Order: sequence, then structure tokens, then C-alpha cells
Amino acid sequence: MRLTYPRSFLSLLLIGFSIVAAPLLFALLTNALAFERLSRLAEQTVHSSVKVTQASRSLATVIASLDRAARQYSVAGEAMYLDAYRTNRAAFLRFTHQLDEMELSEAQRAELASIIRDEDAVNMLITHSGPTPELARRLPQEFANLTEHGQNLIRVGDQATDSGIEQLRAQAVHSRDSVFWLMIALIPTAILLIGSFTFLIARPITQVSEGIRSLGEGNFAKPIAIQGPGDMVRLGEQLDWLRDRLITLEAQKTRFLQHMSHELKTPLTALREGSDLLSSGVVGSLNAEQREIARILQENSIELRKLIEGLLNYSAVHAQTSYLDAKIVQLREVVRRVVNDRKLPIVAKDMRIELNCEHVTAYCDEEKIRVMLDNLLSNAIKYSPERGLISIKLYKEHNDAVFEVLDEGPGIPAVDREKIFEAFYRGADAPVAAIKGSGLGLSIVKEYIQLHKGRIEVLDGPGAHFRVSFPRKKTGNEEEAA
Ligand code: ADP
Repeated sequence: MRLTYPRSFLSLLLIGFSIVAAPLLFALLTNALAFERLSRLAEQTVHSSVKVTQASRSLATVIASLDRAARQYSVAGEAMYLDAYRTNRAAFLRFTHQLDEMELSEAQRAELASIIRDEDAVNMLITHSGPTPELARRLPQEFANLTEHGQNLIRVGDQATDSGIEQLRAQAVHSRDSVFWLMIALIPTAILLIGSFTFLIARPITQVSEGIRSLGEGNFAKPIAIQGPGDMVRLGEQLDWLRDRLITLEAQKTRFLQHMSHELKTPLTALREGSDLLSSGVVGSLNAEQREIARILQENSIELRKLIEGLLNYSAVHAQTSYLDAKIVQLREVVRRVVNDRKLPIVAKDMRIELNCEHVTAYCDEEKIRVMLDNLLSNAIKYSPERGLISIKLYKEHNDAVFEVLDEGPGIPAVDREKIFEAFYRGADAPVAAIKGSGLGLSIVKEYIQLHKGRIEVLDGPGAHFRVSFPRKKTGNEEEAA
């Protein structure tokens, strides 16, 4: 899937944060709404229930007072009782009016209607008949009905309160459940979004750091391309431009080395031939001192020639480092060949070789692996004491092929461990420095092993202990080469 990145890294960050925050904001908002709904319902239920209950109870009390005043009036017939009756009736009417304005259930409204109707009938009776024994006889029955309806109104109100509370509880459970399920759905979504954006943000950064690392390691073969926001893509283009520049500089350096060494060869040959002629006495006999000088000249010109050949060899190696001629190789055979080629110096120093090689195959450039091993073995021979033991191991480790070369020489001092792989670097140790060499062997080993996407390490040991490992299967480089 092709992703379209925004123009800048900052926009990517902002978009990422917004998208990741969106579900969380949504959850927050939903929660707030549910909470608001719940609290409104709670307020409504509690508030209106309390008001209706209060009004119903007051109404019941007023009915009792009405009852009392009416009965006193019917028995005593005094105007004072009629006034008390009227005052209570006014309160009765106020309460019924208040209740009528409130939010009532159907049952409550029916009870209220009955109360109003019954009271109206009682009032008609009192107004029309006046204080008579007939009134006194009928009133208890009339007020009993009214009181019963008043009690019914309170009971129905209590029932309404209970059902309101039940509804509230159900709503609370419902809100809790929906918040729970919302969270269940949103948490993985948020994690997924965070993961995706972390990947999108981290990918260009990783690509930049990989690009810089491969430039630092001198791997110029693979072009650098960054997938990401516009500014990161431009950064990738600049890195690739840098890679181009480094390739050009590297080529210039190699050309310079080749020219230099080539140009040096001609005067050197003349020097050597001259010193040969002097030493051989063809141009006249020499005294002992002159012979000694001629010998020194001859020896140094040979040394110089070796160095120049090393230089030429190195530049040739360098020119080849982006190229691998890979195929399936039996590594044990390569070890055998290398040891066989070095038989003479081994015998000359009376050394012993211990081979511990498993059957390992790898997809690699046979000639480069041979040169690599040969450089390690020739160093081991060079730096070992006479009659020393050299041990070569070959084995598989996960997907890698591993070589180890150990000797009984002075080993590599800790200060030199990083530097010995640099071209022309020679060990700082005095006795070791006395041994002739160009300081190029290990730098070639390192170049070749990097080309195979492997690595070389110096391990601790009494003597030198080199460990080389590289993938046995095809890697990007070989596919390019194949
Ligand atoms: P050269 O051997 O020609 O000097 P190399 O690149 O092969 O160059 O080695 C670089 C340095 O590493 C050597 O000068 C030496 O100090 C050290 N070195 C390499 N191999 C060994 C070894 N087997 N034992 C001790 N020192 C070693």
C-alpha cells in the first residue's frame, strides 16, 4: 500500500497526535454526555418526587382539618367553625392547584381528580344544607372517602418515587455498560493508531540513521531513499547526494593511488637495477663499505617495491569492493586450499596447524573469502613464534557461517583493536612493528567481509584471536551482484 505523507515532519506529528487523540476525546465526550443525562434524570426524579410527596402530605393534613372544622360546624352551627372551614378550604384549593401544575402520573392525576370532585360535593352539601343533623350524619362518610383518596394520592406518589429511582438505577447501569463497551472498543483502536503513527514517524528516522550508518561504514552501493514527509524526503536526497560525492572522492583516491604507485615504479626499477649492478660488481669491484651500502640500497628498494605492490593491490581491491561474484561455496574446501597454499612458510617455521572445520556451505564470493582467510592465516604465521600452534575453526551459528583464526603470537593490544582494520595502520608494538608488512591485509579483510554483510571481531586470548561471521544465505548485495 502506498502511503502519502504530509509535507513536513511537524505536520505528520500534529496529524498523528490529533488522530490518536480523537477516539479518546470521543470517549470523554460520550462519558460527559452520559453523566449529564444521568444527573439531569436524577435531579428530575428526586426534585419532582419530593415536591409531589410534600404537596400530597400537606393536602392530606388539610383534608383532616377540613373534616374537623366541617364536623364542628355541623354540630355547633357557629360561624367561627364555618370560617375555619373556609380558611382550610382555601388551603385545600391552593394545594390541589399546585399539584395540578406538577408533573404527575396518570394514577396520581386520577386520584387528584377524585379528591377535587369529592371535596366539591362535600362543599355543596355544607353550603346548601347548613348546620343540620342530616349534615352531621352524612359528613363522616363523605370525609372518609375524601381521606381515602388523599391517602391513595400519597401511596401512588410513593410508588412513582420508587419507580423513578428504579429507572435511575437502570439508566446508571446502562450508562456504565455503554462506557465500558466504548472503552473496550476504543482502547485497542487507540493502541492501533498509536502503533501505526509510531511506525510512520519512526520509519523515516530509522531510514536516515541507516543511511548515515551505511555511509559511515563505506557502503556506497545502495542508494539512499527516505519514505516520509517532504522535509525528510529532501534530507534523504541530500544524503544520497553525499553518497554520490563520497563515491566520486573514493574513485579519485583509488585513481590517485594507482597513478602514484605506477609512477613510482619506473624510477624505483631504475634504482633497483642500479643497485643490482653495483652489488654484482659488473661495473667495477667495490670495497667492503661500498658493498654494504649497495646491499642496503638493494634491500630497501625491494622493500619499497613490495610496498608499492601492496598499494597497487589495495587500490585494485578497492575498485572491486562493490562487486560480488557469489555462488554456493563449500567453505571447508576453501580453508583446505588456503592452508595448502601456505604450506611452505608453515614448514619453514616448524608450525602446527589445527583444523576444526564443520561442513558449511554459504552463498558467497569464493575468491574474496579465500583472500580474507589467506590474509588472516598469513598474519598468524607472520606474528607467531617458531613451532607455534595455529588453530582454524569453521562452524554454523544461526544463519551465519563463522571462521575463527587463533595463534600463539603476541596478540593484539587493546589500543590497536579498532585501528588495525584501517588501511596502512601497523601495530604500535615495537617487536611486532619490526616484522615487515604493509598494514593493508586486515583492511582488505574488513572490506570483503562488509561486502558479504558480515563482521570481523578481535576476541581476547593469549595470542591473536579473530572471528569472522557472515550470512550463509543470499543478502541484498549478492542479489545485486548475481
Ligand atoms: P600488516 O600485517 O601488513 O602489518 P595487517 O593489516 O595485516 O598489516 O595488520 C595490521 C596490524 O595488525 C599489524 O601491523 C599487526 O600489528 C596487527 N596484527 C594483525 N594480525 C596479527 C596477529 N595474528 N598477531 C599479532 N598482531 C597482528
